[in-house]
Amino acid sequence: MDELKGDCANCFGLCCVALPFAKSADFAATKDTGTPCRNLLADHRCGIHDRLRDKGYPGCTVYDCFGAGQRVSQTVFRGNDWRTGERQKMFAVFPVARQLHELLWYLAEARRLDPHDDLGEAYAEVERHTVADPDHLLAVDVAEIRAKVNVLLLRTSERLRASAKSYRGADLIGARLRNRNLSNADFRGAYLIGADLTNADLSRADMIGADLRGADLSGADLSTCLFLTQPQVNAARGNARTKLPAALTRPSHWHTGTGKRR
Ligand code: SF4
Repeated sequence: MDELKGDCANCFGLCCVALPFAKSADFAATKDTGTPCRNLLADHRCGIHDRLRDKGYPGCTVYDCFGAGQRVSQTVFRGNDWRTGERQKMFAVFPVARQLHELLWYLAEARRLDPHDDLGEAYAEVERHTVADPDHLLAVDVAEIRAKVNVLLLRTSERLRASAKSYRGADLIGARLRNRNLSNADFRGAYLIGADLTNADLSRADMIGADLRGADLSGADLSTCLFLTQPQVNAARGNARTKLPAALTRPSHWHTGTGKRR
């Protein structure tokens, strides 16, 4: 699934230009849509990427484009940089492409775990949009595509989970779930902000859209949970004993306290 992971070396720093952010605990300064971040270098790389958290940009260590950055830069805009090309169109296309790439991530996982022809067809259909021209991408109805894909993901989730234990959309902010057997549970869209999931068993739990900001996953087993993404993991806390799905990377700040984005 490498094409669904950010490859900043082949991107024009789109997430550092196209997306706005506000001065907060996540970003040391406010930046408007389409304005390059003050830390962005001429070669589109981040000048503080090895010390983002120390410099007040933890928000950058959480973000992941699911590969939309390089796709928009190299395929949709054929390697034409926003400094010389259609900057406004490129900045409008990027967030659309990012949503579609996130859906591709989920479909790829569903297809791997529960092979079905319609998952492959859905993947191909979404992918066709991501390699189309900018005007096509700007006309795509993402909500409609998401609704269609969600039906398939729900089916996969229900087929793979042995129980119907549901915490869907639940407010579990700061909840003490330490050492709990939460296997096969449904955490779709659950708020697990700051929750203590130390040593919890989340085998086959559905984690799609669960908010794990500041959640403690130390020693937790997420190795077979469903639809967990890199941004969710990056937003949480954990340690060397946290078991993650093979497709995901252990965030460097879990160990060293410094963030890495690019
Ligand atoms: S990664 Fe670096 S250049 Fe990009 S927005 Fe964050 S601080 Fe700015």
